[in-house]
Amino acid sequence: MTFIPNPKQDPGPKKKRKRIAAYSTKRAKQVEVYKKRRRIFLDKPENKYCFIDRCNDLATTIEHTAGRSGEMLLNEEYWKPCCLRCNLELENNPKLSKKYQLSRIHKGKRA
Ligand SMILES: [Zn+2]
Repeated sequence: MTFIPNPKQDPGPKKKRKRIAAYSTKRAKQVEVYKKRRRIFLDKPENKYCFIDRCNDLATTIEHTAGRSGEMLLNEEYWKPCCLRCNLELENNPKLSKKYQLSRIHKGKRA
């Protein structure tokens, strides 16, 4: 690193990071609640298997069919039991996610 004599030139991306960190604290609490509820959810007999047609693998993850931003993370109405393979497939395959997810979210946000 070379010494830069004018620190005022710095555009200051660090300030942005601070704001995200403050948000994450709130989010971290939601995630804590989520982790507990997630285990309970996947322990239910009706949630034992992946919800994707013809998959039948054991569900080890939760697919958030309405996304997981904000309060949606904890809205169990939109949770679906999902195996890891299908979960990744849903993330990477727009056709599949269109079939199983409630629109939005995938409209370019994922790039
Ligand atoms: Zn599956």
